[in-house]
Amino acid sequence: MDNCIFCKIANGEIPAATLYEDDDFRVILDLGPASKGHALILPKAHAANIYEISDEMAAKAMILAKKMATKMTDALKCDGFNIVQNNGEPAGQTVFHFHMHLIPRYKGDKVGITWEPGTLTDEVKKEILEKLKN
Ligand code: AMP
Ligand code: ZN
Repeated sequence: MDNCIFCKIANGEIPAATLYEDDDFRVILDLGPASKGHALILPKAHAANIYEISDEMAAKAMILAKKMATKMTDALKCDGFNIVQNNGEPAGQTVFHFHMHLIPRYKGDKVGITWEPGTLTDEVKKEILEKLKN
């Protein structure tokens, strides 16, 4: 992808604060961090989102997320950890190259990854189960 900033960062054409790199991924610090240590897992191969990424890369990304969460929690002494992955504008995606947010959480921080719980009605439950249950 010619004009994709995360392609350029992941492949080293644009410098970024790199925490980890291997043949498939680069992990960088987010420039607009939600908390101290907020990082992004970027695959080097372009995929816009979860729908486009290969099964192999999705699996590797999750394994790397686990490894980074463990390492970062140990190093930063954070009290919790969010792994966030946005797909599409309504879901908050602003850079259309698949990435996973690694967000260290600290007791009392004001990071907002929460929502107002709704109610699962019988009607909606039935509709969704009909559409999705295998
Ligand atoms: P999303 O909203 O899930 O697409 O996340 C995009 C993230 O990329 C945001 O948290 C931005 O702060 C971050 N970001 C955008 N451009 C850069 C950049 N050049 N270097 C590091 N992080 C960036
Ligand atoms: Zn890209």
